[in-house]
Amino acid sequence: MNPMKLHIKSFGCQMNKLDTALVTAALKDARFNLTESVKEADVVLINTCSVRDHAEQRVISHLGHLKHIKESKPDLIVGVIGCMAQRLGDKLLEHEAVNIVCGPTQIPQIADLITEVIEQNKKELAITEQIRKPAPQPDSDALEEFESAYGIEAKGIPGQAFVRVMRGCNKFCTYCIVPYVRGPEVSRPPQAIIDQIKRLADDGIKQVTLLGQAVNSYEYKAAEKTYSLADILAKAAEIQDIEWIKFVTNYPTEKYFDEILQVMADSPKVCPYLHIPAQSGSDKILKAMNRRYTADWYLSLLDKARAIVPEIAIAGDLIVGFPGETDQDFQQTVELVKKARYRNCFVFKYSPRPGTTADKRLQNTVPLQVKQARNIELLAVQEKISEELNREFLGKTVKVLIEGPSKKPHLNAAENQNNPQLVARTATDYIVVFNAPQSLAGQFTKVKITKTTPLTLFAELTASQE
Ligand code: SF4
Repeated sequence: MNPMKLHIKSFGCQMNKLDTALVTAALKDARFNLTESVKEADVVLINTCSVRDHAEQRVISHLGHLKHIKESKPDLIVGVIGCMAQRLGDKLLEHEAVNIVCGPTQIPQIADLITEVIEQNKKELAITEQIRKPAPQPDSDALEEFESAYGIEAKGIPGQAFVRVMRGCNKFCTYCIVPYVRGPEVSRPPQAIIDQIKRLADDGIKQVTLLGQAVNSYEYKAAEKTYSLADILAKAAEIQDIEWIKFVTNYPTEKYFDEILQVMADSPKVCPYLHIPAQSGSDKILKAMNRRYTADWYLSLLDKARAIVPEIAIAGDLIVGFPGETDQDFQQTVELVKKARYRNCFVFKYSPRPGTTADKRLQNTVPLQVKQARNIELLAVQEKISEELNREFLGKTVKVLIEGPSKKPHLNAAENQNNPQLVARTATDYIVVFNAPQSLAGQFTKVKITKTTPLTLFAELTASQE
């Protein structure tokens, strides 16, 4: 059989991007060639996200486009994988364009599902029936095997790789669909994670980012010891060629917090960067969200993090317009952002997700215009803080890991026309843009900051790389 052409499109978070990379590596192994063009493809896979309505709407519109293409190319196979596949299951399979619906737990089966569609000319559904029950052992073993086999090939940006340390979530924030599409928390065996990082290091990877929905909940009970994320970070830091280790996303909790922050303080390889979403500054709204802390307690956790790791950069997420959020509640969120002094924060307008507790029990009371206005106001507050924090970098020399060419031209594009504009990040996850040869992608370098904006630091390569 001639190699088939695969086009794969990914929506959503880092976790989804990692799944896309794993599936791509597995299908390349099964003799698929990647194509950028949907029209050239024999198989189109869409890895979907259900966290926001907007992401699901984009998938539906993409499927409409594929239905149109299938009219002149009826053999085209279309598979929907990921969270939306698990959420909608056979409803999605009814869509005229769709041949395969495959949930996140079933991705190791994807090559077989495609073969079955070709050979038997029928639609295929592979999702978990009872998503909140621990996955049956064969499924769980297959996922671990899949991750170990292809995790090493699933590298994205040069020099960098993502490594999942756990799957699923047990927190049940009332607005969030993740526990219902990714299932209960399952931590991967420590040795499997460390072996994977070692192989990535042997393959030239310099930075790993450990992934989990609530990554600091990582907990693996072995006969003699219970392992936390702190243990994984410490072990990963012993791997010689790994220079930077990051981890996202953290849930605000005391459990293992000090241990994790202490490893960060003790190891120069564990980057002093903590993404730890607050979601709201109002205790009433936090309670309605089933976030298990108050705003003051959250801020005291940030104080503790800064006491243990003084150079730490903290990032957050906030939701505006959650049901019942009054102007007063929103102003408490503004106050929290002012006190938290995030290096950056992501602000989301609440959108109800079918199947979540908030959607079932709470009225979506805040009008869209109000959500929009609050979104703009909060971003403006953060922008001022980011601008102040970024300005402190002026004239300083920082170490960065270069990602590659900048996708969009930045302000100082005219300053050095000899080399392309590259994007890099500091250990604290600040974005730095400068002109340098593209061949440096994937390398560490030192740059001097020459200009700052709220979102970006601009720099030039320093003569000395000491
Ligand atoms: S911690 Fe909350 S917001 Fe994050 S994935 Fe779990 S349920 Fe969703």
